[in-house]
Amino acid sequence: MAGLAHLEQTIAESIAIEGIGLHSGAPVTMRLLPAPAGSGIVFRRTDLDNFEIAANGRNVAKVSYATSLMRQGVLISTTEHLLSALVGMGIDNVIVELDNLELPILDGSALPYVDAIRTVGIRTQRRRRETIRVLRAVEVREGNKFIGVYPGSGYSIQYTIDFPAPIGRQATIVDLAAETYGEWIAPARTFGYKADEQRLRDMGLIRGANAGNAIILGVKGPENGPLRFDDEFVRHKVLDLIGDLALAGRRIEGHVVAERAGHAMHTALVSRLLKDRSAWELAHVPVETEAPRRRGHETAADDVLASPVLMSA
Ligand SMILES: [Zn+2]
Repeated sequence: MAGLAHLEQTIAESIAIEGIGLHSGAPVTMRLLPAPAGSGIVFRRTDLDNFEIAANGRNVAKVSYATSLMRQGVLISTTEHLLSALVGMGIDNVIVELDNLELPILDGSALPYVDAIRTVGIRTQRRRRETIRVLRAVEVREGNKFIGVYPGSGYSIQYTIDFPAPIGRQATIVDLAAETYGEWIAPARTFGYKADEQRLRDMGLIRGANAGNAIILGVKGPENGPLRFDDEFVRHKVLDLIGDLALAGRRIEGHVVAERAGHAMHTALVSRLLKDRSAWELAHVPVETEAPRRRGHETAADDVLASPVLMSA
């Protein structure tokens, strides 16, 4: 886990990624660019005069099947898998250019982003990283759905899902300080039920879905090949949660518990947490807990853009 570095990080070179949006089916070309320390994650619509939307809780739009950001009527849709990969890989600052409204779904997981970041490398920046250190519990409950965040060192997530067959109940606990995001979480793919497919297509909600970018579940199990993990479904929910909680603007230091939650619950927790100023404090990551970084390297040259690495969905 690169995320424990006490200094902020960006990508060492730009990354270009092409694909289609899961919900819109729209083709999109995306470029990730290194960004200065302190700038955070900022999306930029190159098809709309480089209109910028920062990845933070103030810009969260209507949330149901995916997490979207909106500012002044401009939309950026399905941000969660990229944001998850950025948090998981310990990237604080990046500009995300895209020429359409929805991020590419790629293979339905965050692994292509992780691979791309590993390919270009990570650059350490000269600014202390701040975390949102949780001081007391903040909880959101809605019917039988629940999510809460509690004080705790590091960043750990306990997630329980209870879906109709063939998924059923799955639970996992992930300690992001100890587990390797790239190996345990990033490969877990999004999923959907064959029985829901026609209804969702009729509603225009999954125009880009195909057997290459989502696990399609029949009555007995996956219809398109083997799972990457026995508990891939709950791992994907953890992936989504990490991406949605990135909208807090900084890495969370605490323990998250989620039961039957989804994007709306995840982002509701972000809003409630940020509003309750007595529930958290900004804290620096201590230098002595810094984990060894395999790919990071020190440089003060913050503005060098190297040639992009091209990757297709
Ligand atoms: Zn997802």
